[in-house]
Amino acid sequence: MPAVHFRTCHLCEAMCGLEITTESGRVTNVRGDDADVFSRGHLCPKGAAIGEQYDDPDRVRVPLRRRPDGRFEAISWEAALDFAVAGLEAARRAHGRNGVAFYIGNPTVHNHSALILSQAFARGLGTRNLYDANSLDANPRLLASLLLYGAATAVPIPDVDHTDFLLMLGANPAASNGSLLTMGDVRGRLKGIRARGARLVLVDPRRTETAEWATEHHFIRPGGDAAFLLGIVHTLFQDGLVDSQRVSAIADGLDDVKRAVAAFPPERVAARCGVDADVIRRLARELAAAKSAAVYGRIGTCLNEFGTTASWLIDVCNVITGNFDRRGGVLFPSPAADPSGLAKKLGVNRYARWRSRVRGLPEFTGALPTAALAEEITTPGEGQVRALVTLAGNPARSAPDSGALEKALASLDHYVAIDTYINETTRHAHVILPPVHALERGHFDLLFHGFAVRNTVKYSVPVFPKPADGREEWEILYTLGMRLGGLRFGIPVLDRTLHLGWKAGIRLDPDRVIDHLLRTGAHGDRYSPLSKGLNLAKLKQSPHGIDLGPLKPGAAPRIAGGRVALAPELLLRDLERVAADLEASSVALVLIGRRHVRSNNSWMHNVPSLVRGKDRATAWVHPTDAAAAGVVNGQRVRVTSSVGSIEATAEVTEDVMRGVVSIPHGFGHGVVGDTLRVAAKLAGPNLNDVTDSSRVDAISGTAALNGTPIRLSAAKPASRARARPSRAASTRVREG
Ligand code: SF4
Repeated sequence: MPAVHFRTCHLCEAMCGLEITTESGRVTNVRGDDADVFSRGHLCPKGAAIGEQYDDPDRVRVPLRRRPDGRFEAISWEAALDFAVAGLEAARRAHGRNGVAFYIGNPTVHNHSALILSQAFARGLGTRNLYDANSLDANPRLLASLLLYGAATAVPIPDVDHTDFLLMLGANPAASNGSLLTMGDVRGRLKGIRARGARLVLVDPRRTETAEWATEHHFIRPGGDAAFLLGIVHTLFQDGLVDSQRVSAIADGLDDVKRAVAAFPPERVAARCGVDADVIRRLARELAAAKSAAVYGRIGTCLNEFGTTASWLIDVCNVITGNFDRRGGVLFPSPAADPSGLAKKLGVNRYARWRSRVRGLPEFTGALPTAALAEEITTPGEGQVRALVTLAGNPARSAPDSGALEKALASLDHYVAIDTYINETTRHAHVILPPVHALERGHFDLLFHGFAVRNTVKYSVPVFPKPADGREEWEILYTLGMRLGGLRFGIPVLDRTLHLGWKAGIRLDPDRVIDHLLRTGAHGDRYSPLSKGLNLAKLKQSPHGIDLGPLKPGAAPRIAGGRVALAPELLLRDLERVAADLEASSVALVLIGRRHVRSNNSWMHNVPSLVRGKDRATAWVHPTDAAAAGVVNGQRVRVTSSVGSIEATAEVTEDVMRGVVSIPHGFGHGVVGDTLRVAAKLAGPNLNDVTDSSRVDAISGTAALNGTPIRLSAAKPASRARARPSRAASTRVREG
């Protein structure tokens, strides 16, 4: 008999409600849940393919151990755990606590129980060599939040549903479905901006899919975001558009900012950012004049050498135009289960307590930049990493100079992977401990309710029962951690409970943390049986979620000290670096990544329906650059940097800025022939074979994955290539 289940999709930040039909242990249909309080029936091709991924014959379902010949063999859970623990203990004995590293991959943020336990596992290991995907993604934004508001998770969210003017930099929600901007029904919401007469101004080195919904688009040179924003802030002050009394009521440091930006008139920054001074001035004036406005930046503003400073300047724009904590401006969500208190107790709101051993890159939220991982493995000396645990993720494709990282992974004495695939990273593991599929566990978005454009709350129960010997990620971490000497939250009552529970054979269920956060949160029942407030049991009775209303002003409780620290000394000082960059001679050609709605980093390339059709891992090249390099549309081209070179098929298009080449990240599957059979056929170029791990945002240590200087040349003669340029973005089929 078919059964229908309602569940929030775990694949990206958009939190779409899915209506999943199952029969005989298989998914037979997936559609958007029209009754979902947040996503209103929207889903993208990835969500629709969730059943295909569940059935994937390449998904690892039993523990595997690597044989000396490099092939994997199935072993029992007991043998796998014994082997994993023994190797980690040996590495710790030989090299000390820092000799064991732990990498937390991006899928973990979509898995509440793994997210909670991974923090305790890392602290239990006691290593300084913790790495995570945030240093390849969001850290500049999160560090700016720590410096301005006192909490890394305090990210002001554009009020997309009500704003009159949205200035968006380096973000492509029409493909990514939103990032640090959780907005189910992305396209409906983007479309709604123009439909109600408001404006969406997009600034991006590519004319992206999001440009379709924008009222205007401007190209910007990769890495020029800080310069562009300085020009905007300068104009706001110069034109007297800043209400200093109003700003000073909520923020400190306004005069310091004004002094600091005086040296950055639009004429000075225009060449670096590639946006005309007149346009910068006009946008600043329109921003100030709008009834309400919001500035938002994402991956493009973060993954460059000035990411933290650019993220800070975005917030400066919002604060000084009076749009901070205001309807239609930027607001802090009020999640029903707010993890910020827990994060604070875990010491997440910390920066530069220690630095990486080889290069001195700063710790942030307890983790070191992943750009430093390869050298920490390969550089001899005290504290050298010789053993590794990875939890999901694929740094061998997502980290810069991934060739160097792969070599480093292959040299480890002991590597334990908690993962459901033998991918480019985990193929180097000595043992793979596979968790159950996400459809076999409960799901709660612990972080993304806190980044959402509307306050809602949802919990999803498992669609399928857990297989008899199956284990969730948190259960694997719990067993490993306890056998290695204990998990540690650093919260005495929790640590004691864990310890006593382990001894008595009673395990902590991470859902109890969610229940506690719900009960003690703004909408909670406060543990009163008479209260109508929320707890987890009540939430489970609402399979389409509960709507808690629009975002509302009232940010002060989310900000440490109740005031915005508008002028952090660290960032003011960084303007010297921005100024020096303005004077530096410009590079002729730089490389950036891109994303497609059917792709999610490297995760989903083994799903046949998502990779079907034309080659998407092409190199977008502007016609002028193509002519200069002597290449034509459809020709194989070689992209070469100081690190390496890759080949791709050229798509000559005016949808990319002159001087910029764009190749999507997450490809390069040619090496996983018999373990990711669909992806291996697809192969594609690995963007991170040419990115450079020495290029980082100096403040946060985040990899500058965009803006890599490159050379472009023909890889093969142009005999079968087409000579005419294409309109890559505008001719793309609309999806989602
Ligand atoms: S946009 Fe797609 S991948 Fe993201 S949550 Fe929705 S269905 Fe899932």
